[in-house]
Amino acid sequence: MSERKIALVTGGSRGIGRAICVKLAKDGADIVFNYQSGAEAAEQTKKLCEEARVLAVRADVANPEDCNRLISEAAAFGNGRIDILVNNAGITRDNLLGRMKNEEMDAVLDVNVKGSFYMMRGVSKLMLRQKSGCIVNMSSVVGVLGNAGQVNYAASKAAVIGMTKSLARELASRHISVNAVAPGMIETDMTGVMSESVREKVLESIPFRHMGKPEDIANVVAFLAGEGGSYITGQVLCVDGGMAI
Ligand code: NAP
Repeated sequence: MSERKIALVTGGSRGIGRAICVKLAKDGADIVFNYQSGAEAAEQTKKLCEEARVLAVRADVANPEDCNRLISEAAAFGNGRIDILVNNAGITRDNLLGRMKNEEMDAVLDVNVKGSFYMMRGVSKLMLRQKSGCIVNMSSVVGVLGNAGQVNYAASKAAVIGMTKSLARELASRHISVNAVAPGMIETDMTGVMSESVREKVLESIPFRHMGKPEDIANVVAFLAGEGGSYITGQVLCVDGGMAI
């Protein structure tokens, strides 16, 4: 990046979001990220982004008022600009359909779908005024392929793809790109809860035969947000060791 951009990353305190903050900072962006509860982890992310100015904000992306406050704080930090939005915050509430509670469906849709919607709606207003910007949404290979025990999560990540393609069409004339990254199985707290037997089964479904690292996803987000992504919009990049072949 030639000049310092302002990147707003949701769920930057841990896992993939943290790796995205660190990579974008290294590439020359100043960073605003949010976390929901992990204040100590957020401090750690701040320390790791040593090249950049960094602001960490506690905000629940399932709450529209929190999203508006997060966006206002990010815009103030960026002197009115937000160049990059990464909708990374996400949760799972896995269960077989017959046992899935309404609350498990609602919680996943509230964070993964509505959270991204609130953030895109708020930030795109700013980007439209700027006539530039880049939005990257975190989908999942599960949103492309489906997965037993994850009807709610698959629905949310397929919705992210639908929102990405629709908004890409809405914003293209103002030179704002909107893309999705669909990670496969990445080593984070989210996948750390898998039993050894499930993990072995999962590895069999990955042509590369190993799980990815958060940095594998961060590198692709940085590519889309940098010069490499300047003529790419409305795409879903599967970063999954071949799972979606
Ligand atoms: P993670 O390790 O569980 O971290 C989740 C992050 O999101 C944390 O920073 C958490 O903040 C934040 N967060 C959760 N709920 C939030 C809310 N309501 N409001 C604001 N922030 C919230 O997850 P991850 O594995 O890095 O996953 C990141 C993204 O990649 C998610 O969208 C996930 O669905 C997607 N993904 C992951 C994988 C994988 O294999 N790991 C595969 C495909 C897609 P706190 O720490 O404060 O709670």
